[in-house]
Amino acid sequence: MFFFKACPRCGGDMYLNRDMYGAYTQCVQCGCVLYIQEEKETVAVAAKEKAA
Ligand SMILES: [Zn+2]
Repeated sequence: MFFFKACPRCGGDMYLNRDMYGAYTQCVQCGCVLYIQEEKETVAVAAKEKAA
């Protein structure tokens, strides 16, 4: 499942994924990750890589 131009960082396309922490969307272009918290709003999370 894709979310086109949903990345808050670069405006790129994001795809839905899931890991042990829950569902998240990750940007194809820059790797920015947004975790989707159940019962709460989607909260922006800093990208996994170190801050530039
Ligand atoms: Zn991006």
